[in-house]
Amino acid sequence: MLQDNQKKMATRLNVLPRNPGEELPRGKEEEKAVSLGRFPSWLHRKLPRGSALAETGYVIQNQRLHTVCEEARCPNLLECWSKKTATFLVMGKECTRNCGFCDIDFSKAPKELDEEEPKRVAEAARALGLTHVVITMVARDDLSDGGASHLVKVVEAIRKESPESTVEVLTSDFFGNLDALNIILKANPEIFNHNIETVRALTPRVRHTATYDRTLKILRYAASNRNNPKMLIKSGLMVGLGEEKEQVYETLQDLATAGCDVVTMGQYLQPNRRKLLVKAFVSPEEFKDYENYGHSLGIKHMYCGPFVRSSYNAKDVLQKSILSEKA
Ligand code: SF4
Repeated sequence: MLQDNQKKMATRLNVLPRNPGEELPRGKEEEKAVSLGRFPSWLHRKLPRGSALAETGYVIQNQRLHTVCEEARCPNLLECWSKKTATFLVMGKECTRNCGFCDIDFSKAPKELDEEEPKRVAEAARALGLTHVVITMVARDDLSDGGASHLVKVVEAIRKESPESTVEVLTSDFFGNLDALNIILKANPEIFNHNIETVRALTPRVRHTATYDRTLKILRYAASNRNNPKMLIKSGLMVGLGEEKEQVYETLQDLATAGCDVVTMGQYLQPNRRKLLVKAFVSPEEFKDYENYGHSLGIKHMYCGPFVRSSYNAKDVLQKSILSEKA
C-alpha cells in the first residue's frame, strides 16, 4: 500500500527520474523548461529506497498527526521520510490564511485544539529517533494568542519525552502580537524560524494577510529578545515567483539587518493549479550567488538550492552552527 503511495507521490511531485534517452532542452534550459511546463535537469532526482519511508509514515499515521511534508506537498518528502525525518504540523491541517503559494487547506473556523496533540508529537518524535525536532503550525488567527501557548506545550512535551533533543519552531507572524511571540521566546527553542517567503514587492500577491514589514518586526524582536543568546533566528524565502535579482538582494539585506543567523532559499514549485504559477526556474549557480551574497552581509548560515525548504536538513544546519561557534 505504502509502496503504491510512494510511487504516486513521486509522480505527482515530479521526482521520478527522467525517461531514459529523453533529451534535456539545450541553451537557456530553464526558460525553455518553464515555457514547456517541464522541469530543468537539476529538479530531477532518483527515488530513495528502503523501508524507513514506510516506517515514518506509519509512526505519523499511528499518532494521528499531520506533517507539513504532506500538507504542503513538499518535494523532499520521499528523501526526508526515508531518513526518518519529518516536520510536524500542529493545531490541525486547516489554516486561517490562504496564501498564493501554499497547498495547506484554508478554513475561517478550523477545528478546536487537540489537548493530546503535544504528547502525541513527542511520542512520534521519540519513535522516529529525532534528535532535532521541527514543529510548524498553521496560522490560527481565530485564537487570541495565535496558538503560541499550544505550540509551547508541544515544545515542553518534546523536552520531557526526549530531553537530549533540540527543538526548532517555525511559526506564523501571530499577527504581530508580541505577547504571543514572548510566549514562544520564553520556551527557548534552539531555533526560532519565521519565513519571509518572498521579496517585498511580491508579498501582497504571495502571502495572504501577512506583511513583509510585520515579518521583519517579528524577526527583529525575536533576535533582540532571545533569552538564550545561542538561540538561532532563521527565516526563508522562495524564488521563481517572478522576483528580480536586486529584490532578492534587498530581502537578504533586510533579513541580515533584522538579525537572522540562518536563511534558507529554495525554488518555488506550484503545488496545484489554483496556486501561483512558477515564473522561473532558478539555476544552482544563481542559488550559489545568493548564498555568497548572504554571507557577505554577515548572515552566518545561508542554505540555498533548488530543493531547499525551511526544514530541509534542519538538523545539519543546527550542527554546522554549533561547530562554527566552537571553532
Ligand atoms: S523539507 Fe521539511 S517539509 Fe519537506 S519533506 Fe523534508 S522535513 Fe518535510
